This record gives sequence, structure tokens and C-alpha cells, in this order.
Amino acid sequence: MENAILQLCYLIGSITFIMGLKMLSHPDTARKGNLLAAAGMIIAIFATIFLYEHEGHKLHNYVWIFAALILGTVVGTVAAKKVQMTAMPEMVSLFNGMGGACAMLISLVEYNKPEVKTTGSMVVIALGMLIGTVSFAGSMIAWGKLNGKIKDRTIPGGQIINFLIFGGLIALVVSVVGGFFPATPALFYGILALAALYGILFVMPIGGADMPVVISLLNSFTGVAAAFGGFLYDNPVMLTGGILVGSAGTILTILMCKAMNRSLKNVLLGSFGGQKAGAAGAAKDQGNYKEISLNDTAVLMAYAQKVMIIPGYGLAVAQAQHICHELEKILNEKGVEVSYGIHPVAGRMPGHMNVLLAEADVPYEKLLEMEDANDQMGSTNVVLILGANDVVNPAAKDDPASPIFGMPILEVEKAEHVIVNKRSMKPGYAGIENELFFRPKTSMLFGDAKKVLQSLVAELKQV
Ligand code: NDP
Repeated sequence: MENAILQLCYLIGSITFIMGLKMLSHPDTARKGNLLAAAGMIIAIFATIFLYEHEGHKLHNYVWIFAALILGTVVGTVAAKKVQMTAMPEMVSLFNGMGGACAMLISLVEYNKPEVKTTGSMVVIALGMLIGTVSFAGSMIAWGKLNGKIKDRTIPGGQIINFLIFGGLIALVVSVVGGFFPATPALFYGILALAALYGILFVMPIGGADMPVVISLLNSFTGVAAAFGGFLYDNPVMLTGGILVGSAGTILTILMCKAMNRSLKNVLLGSFGGQKAGAAGAAKDQGNYKEISLNDTAVLMAYAQKVMIIPGYGLAVAQAQHICHELEKILNEKGVEVSYGIHPVAGRMPGHMNVLLAEADVPYEKLLEMEDANDQMGSTNVVLILGANDVVNPAAKDDPASPIFGMPILEVEKAEHVIVNKRSMKPGYAGIENELFFRPKTSMLFGDAKKVLQSLVAELKQV
């Protein structure tokens, strides 16, 4: 009877996880989806703690279990509440690393159990150890790099070294599992050591805009490692969750590569940071740019029929999403149609702009995906770029020597007027100049996005 209840709880956990994931794909349902999946997981966790039985034994070390649960819950809640939106990728990386570490520890514990292991369970233990450790070590390096504590470092001959380590890892796994040698602890712990080294060396040289792609890839590794845990314990929730995280992470990795027009091989083997420095160094003389006053901007926008706002990383830094929504409402009151053009890699994480604008209650129908925004650009009178740079850089289309060449961009120059708000002429994330700022249709409106928008709203009230 207890086992039937346990299986029912696992079924509920799996179904709510799948439904929650589906609901995450739309901003209107994302919050509820998150809560639903979390509720399902809580049911599965408590069912395991109180009902799981293995060879007649139940879990009994409740003090340890609940101490860990309470500690993890407190740390996770405080970290998630305190994190700044711009530091989100860092936190994702850290939490993902913890998932990898769990998979690694599961393999360690299971390997050290005295019971005789089948070849099948040894395969699962060894691969869980390998993938979990790579994910843990790699995520820790990614976390350190994102918060600036670790610098990008290209190791001479790094690719060959990584290739050799990877070969060594495969050889170790095959020997441990295949029984060519006795599966001695030395061989097994060799997997742990080499996998940790591989995780560090593989993430170390990757930099710049490629970092989130790597985090997403490591996330899918953690999912796969958790799925191995599901096999090991015959636990359907771990299996479902692991497979879904693994496949969702893989799909996201591919989508991000596409949005930046980079192949995964290029991300993993190429050094974006290196190209970046070269391109910035080779900056050519672009001529003069022109500025526009707040008053002129207000008049131009108030008498436009269609305005498109292009949000970028700077809008998130300035935390100007609420005042941006104010601007949109005032323009609407004046009969101006306002939409937002959203580039898939604007900001610093996938969906960054969608989350940012949702926070300010901007209606979701106003957000246009890149293709739709580009279709509407020709009939737009004014494009207002708020703290975006790389995602509107025409070099992605015109300059084959540019590191971002081939990345699809928001083609703002198809509109009648382009107004760019940023604080200076400094480059964006890719570290390259933006010729758009010097083009005839473009006017610069310098200043912090929040302050500029506050003043613009005040001006508009008087037009
Ligand atoms: P960029 O990083 O290219 O440019 C942001 C601009 O905002 C800067 O040029 C900066 O100029 C300006 N800015 C900064 N602070 C403020 C402020 N307070 N007020 C006004 N402007 C400000 O951003 P984009 O969104 O255009 O492009 C995103 C970049 O990040 C791309 O290269 C993308 O590949 C990369 N990336 C994207 C990820 C994703 O998943 N979304 C993940 C990781 C990287 P100034 O200093 O002069 O103010």
C-alpha cells in the first residue's frame, strides 16, 4: 500500500514538472508553472523521505535530512530574493553546479556501497560521476568568470590537452565498467580527478557573449547526470526531471547559438574574447555623430504614428523598465502606437528583456519578436533604442571581419528616425564599435536610461 502511494506521488511529481515546464514558456503562466512544478517536487521529496523502502529498510536519519533541507531552503530563498537581475546568469551557474555536485556525490556513495554491482549499475555510476563532475567544476569556473573573480585564460595547446583528457576519461570509464582491469578505487577516483580537470579547462578559455551558451550546455549535462541517478534508484521523478532538463538545456543551447549565428563547435573551441580585443583595437574612424535634445525627442515621438522601443542591457542596468512603461502609456494617450522590438540575445540572459518588461506590467502583446519587429520597421516613424548596442549593430550584416558578423539584428535603419539612448560612445558587450551611431538617420540622446526617460516623460506631458 505504501509503495502504491509512493508511486502515485512520483507520478504527481512527474506530471506537475512537465506541466510546469510547459507553463514556463509564456509570461502569463510562468509564475504559476514554477509554483506547480515546485509543489510536485515537494510531494515527491516528502514521499521519498517517509515512504521509500529498500530491502525492508526505510530512511531513518531524519535529523541530517531535515537539517540539510532547511539549510538549503534558507540559502536558496535568500540568494534568489537578493539577486540583481543582471547577476542572474551567475546564480543559475552556481545552482547548476550544485546539481552537478549532487550527481557526483550520488555516484560516490553508490560506488562505496558494499553490495555487488551489475555492469548496468556500474555504467550509470561511472557516467553519472563523469558528467556530474564536469558540470560541477565547469559551472564553478563559469560562476567565477561571470562575477569577475576568474579571468579568461587561453592555455597554450589547450585544445589538445582537453582532447587527451577526454580520451583518458573515456578509457577510464570503459575499464571501470568493462572489467578489463579490476574496478579499483584508484581507477574510479581517477574519473573524478580527470573530470574535474576537464570541467575547469574546458570552460576556462571561453569568454564574452559565449558564456551563457556554455552555462546552458552545462545545465543540460546536469540534467543528464540527474537522469542517471533516476536509473540508479529506479526513481521516475528524477528520471523525468533529468531528461527534461537535459533536453531543454540542449534545445536552449542550440537556439542561443542560432541567435548569435555561432556553431556550438565555434563556441567551445573558438575564443570570443580574443577576437573581441582584435576588433576593438582595429576600430576605424567613423566620422561624426549628432545629438538630439530631450525636447526635440519628445516632439518627434508625440507626433509620430508608430514608435518602436528597442530595449537592451542598459535598460536593465538602469532599472528603467517602469518609467519606460510610463512613456509607452503617455504616447498611447496621445494616439501613438507603441511596440517593443525584442532581440533574442538582448541583455545578458535568454528572455532577459521579456522578464524585465513583464516586471513593469508591459502587456505581452506589445513585445514583438525580432522577425516581426523587422517586418514592422519600415512603417515605423521613430525607433527609440534604450541601452541596446550589439543587437542593433549593422556590422553583423555588413562587415565580414566583425566578430558578430552573421548574427541576426534588429534592422532599425528601415525606420524613419533612430534615437539611441546610452551614456557614452563606449561599445557594448562584444567590445566593438557601432557604425549605426554615425549614420545619417541616427541621433544620440546621452544619459542614464532612467533619468533620460523621466525627463522625456516630463517633456511629453507638456507637448
Ligand atoms: P550591449 O551590451 O551590446 O550594450 C548595452 C549598452 O547599454 C552599452 O553600450 C552601454 O553603453 C549602455 N548602457 C549601460 N548602462 C546604461 C545606462 N544606465 N543607461 C543607458 N545605457 C546604458 O547590450 P545588448 O542588449 O544590445 O546586447 C547584448 C549583448 O550581450 C550581445 O552581445 C549578446 O550576444 C550578449 N549576451 C547576451 C546574452 C543573452 O542571453 N541575452 C548572454 C550573454 C551575452 P554606455 O556605457 O555608453 O552607456
